Amino acid sequence: MVHRSQSVPPEHFKDLHFLTGELIGNVQYEARTSSEETSQIATFSLFAYYTWKSIPLKPVIVLTAGVHGDEIAGVEALQLFTAQKMSAYQQDYEFLLIPRVNPWGSTFFRRENGDEIDINRHFVSDSHSQEAKLITGYIKEKMIRACLSIDFHEDVVHKNDGEFKPPTAFYLYERTASGLILGPHITKKVGETFPVSNQSSIYGETALHGCVFSADLDERTLENFFYQQGADVALTFETPTCWELERRIQAHIIALEEAIHQFKQLPKILQRNK
Ligand SMILES: [Zn+2]
Repeated sequence: MVHRSQSVPPEHFKDLHFLTGELIGNVQYEARTSSEETSQIATFSLFAYYTWKSIPLKPVIVLTAGVHGDEIAGVEALQLFTAQKMSAYQQDYEFLLIPRVNPWGSTFFRRENGDEIDINRHFVSDSHSQEAKLITGYIKEKMIRACLSIDFHEDVVHKNDGEFKPPTAFYLYERTASGLILGPHITKKVGETFPVSNQSSIYGETALHGCVFSADLDERTLENFFYQQGADVALTFETPTCWELERRIQAHIIALEEAIHQFKQLPKILQRNK
């Protein structure tokens, strides 16, 4: 058995002086190629980065990306936002970032983790995902309640998708105590520069102005985990991979900044008092 370690954190984050980096934990996967007699165990590290020193003194915005390792625009958008734009919001908010939720998938450009599990269906109590278990344990142990959580995703669009047609425009999922609050503002802002989905149904869920907010949204997602942990608003952003990467990154950043801008103006009565 050979051990390999792939524990290098994303460099753009570890070099930023205003962030504290922390190892959430390691995940290990067996990897064997047909020409190898022995199997290899490879270790991949899951990191969090946050803006406070000992405890958060302001409301915490949680930003996560890379749940699906082949959806890279969100990871890139987080890096750009953090390096160039985050400081403008730090007077009002603390930030917690988990930029590569699926480090194995990010390394090999795969949707699933090394056990072929879709992590975003495993934020459940009997989870089989090492990553989901590590993250839920970490958030609970640190007693972090997000005021706003955003998980960055993409729709992987292929030329030959046939009948199964993923959206080819920006859209989002929103989970709040009182229906859509931020979503229409965000898609309106994104829509000034990029196409926003006008479908009335996305993957079978009701959609309005590019916002999916059905009461039966999947409860096994990272978005729902943060909502269950008390987030006032939990969002998931989606860009289509048929756009050039630069446009997808920009759309995510516009959406992120508008989400913070709109959240700040929310009447307190619409926020959950937990
Ligand atoms: Zn995804």
